[in-house]
Amino acid sequence: MTEHYDLFVIGAGSGGVRAARMSASFGARVAVAESRYLGGTCVNVGCVPKKLFSYAAHFADDFQDARGFGWQAGEISFDWATLRDNKTREIERLNGIYRGLLEKPGVDIIRGHARLLGPKSVQVGEQVFHADKILVAVGGWPYVPDIPGREHAITSNEIFYLDTLPGHITIVGGGYIATEFASILAGLGIQVSQIYRRELFLRGFDSELREQLAGEMGTKGIDLRFNENVAAIAKAGEGYRLSLTSGGELDTGAVLFATGRRPALENLGLENTAVSITSGGYIEVNSQFETQEPGIYALGDVTGGVELTPVALAEGMNLARRLFNGDDRAVDYANIPTAIFSLPNLATVGLSEEAAREQGKDIAVYTSHFRHLKHTLSGNPTKTFLKLIVERGSDKVIGAHMLGDEAGEIIQGIAVAIKAGATKADFDSTIGIHPTVAEEFVTMREATR
Ligand code: NDP
Repeated sequence: MTEHYDLFVIGAGSGGVRAARMSASFGARVAVAESRYLGGTCVNVGCVPKKLFSYAAHFADDFQDARGFGWQAGEISFDWATLRDNKTREIERLNGIYRGLLEKPGVDIIRGHARLLGPKSVQVGEQVFHADKILVAVGGWPYVPDIPGREHAITSNEIFYLDTLPGHITIVGGGYIATEFASILAGLGIQVSQIYRRELFLRGFDSELREQLAGEMGTKGIDLRFNENVAAIAKAGEGYRLSLTSGGELDTGAVLFATGRRPALENLGLENTAVSITSGGYIEVNSQFETQEPGIYALGDVTGGVELTPVALAEGMNLARRLFNGDDRAVDYANIPTAIFSLPNLATVGLSEEAAREQGKDIAVYTSHFRHLKHTLSGNPTKTFLKLIVERGSDKVIGAHMLGDEAGEIIQGIAVAIKAGATKADFDSTIGIHPTVAEEFVTMREATR
């Protein structure tokens, strides 16, 4: 027996679920196939559990900070199993919510691995489905470089479910996941070494923030090793011995590779269609998410764009509106805000100082580096850093960057202003909320350079 759909979505992650449920709400007959967990990477082994772990990590500082305010807690201790299992229960609850989000507008959920048989047919297990349109939203999968002993490495898929935490962990990579987990695991009391192959992690972010974050993480006792890489991993006793490219060795209890993600294209049956792959290994799409095969679409991480959940959500929404609601507007990728949930958080929107200069813009740079009011009593040496990049001719704020508590929460609001084209004069004429950290963004009077 074959079923026929208007839209068949492969992958129930952020982009796929949004496209499926919105399409169904516009009246389309929709199915979504998923072989693992509803909600995809973000809900299960990404943003959501990571943020829960990040909250957990902050408590280490909070207990310390409280002392300066007169609080004396007894001996503090951390129980990994409690955090891990509470997190898993919450994720299972969210899986159920995702199921409801799909079922309510009438999306059929098909459990199993989907394989394209042709431009309009998909096989899942023994069943074959036909659809006028097919969306490939299968996301990505952690990539571990091909080095001797790579089988000993864990990735962000495993770190959320470890039986026990090691005493020391080595994290390889200098991107979002590596930097967030270095902070999180250090906050949970583990000795952390973070190894990155170039001179400074978080390539592409504003250099001043990268430098300051490195300083802050160093102060917290994280062993940051730049211009270094892991050449091989060997089992050694209960743990591992890493051979480093600089020639040294490092003994560690676990090795987490956070060296990027690759599109999850294995056994998808793309060879049965005209869908083409870019030189980077992603599905090639145009701005309307059309592949080279008419009727097959792709979006989210599998297309190699901006690998962020809110971007996949915007793309899924856009495709559903385009296909089933007559709305042809394109996704606006300008000024996407983003945060790294490191300790302290780093968040940013718009251009870094380097990017603005590379683009030949005549800019004024405003910076503020200060001690958070809270830390005058807590004694915590962490500093907050804010930075605005202003285009001189237009007076437009073209970049805003922050390193400090709740940076993501603050930059989200600033992103609205930047998206709306706010000038520095608009920032200056906005009255601050006192005393807050965020008010510094509207009180930066003198340009630093
Ligand atoms: P990233 O692409 O951010 O970082 C990968 C890192 O691994 C880079 O530092 C890269 O170095 C390094 N690397 C790549 N290949 C090798 C290699 N062979 N040997 C050593 N180092 C290597 O990927 P992540 O895995 O951190 O995260 C995946 C994506 O998920 C991110 O791009 C981000 O879009 C998203 N994400 C977003 C989060 C958020 O919004 N807070 C949180 C987590 C993930 P180099 O700089 O030299 O290329």
